Amino acid sequence: MRDPEEGSDMFDHHCSACDRRQLIFPSMITGMANTDQGIVLAFECWCGAPQTALTGKATEIVSAERTREPVAA
Ligand SMILES: [Zn+2]
Repeated sequence: MRDPEEGSDMFDHHCSACDRRQLIFPSMITGMANTDQGIVLAFECWCGAPQTALTGKATEIVSAERTREPVAA
């Protein structure tokens, strides 16, 4: 769906185990699942704890629109 070269591979995530905001890289992702809300990524935090994060086109489109379009009305 998205270009692999677009640079959206890594993301930050607040880990529920170590209570820190961590940068998550594609190599740390252990799985993904499609849900109604988007794509749920499963990955392992730097601390070793299994984590999940919701991603996917729905949330990405919303945030992209918000940065591109200033609030007009
Ligand atoms: Zn952690």
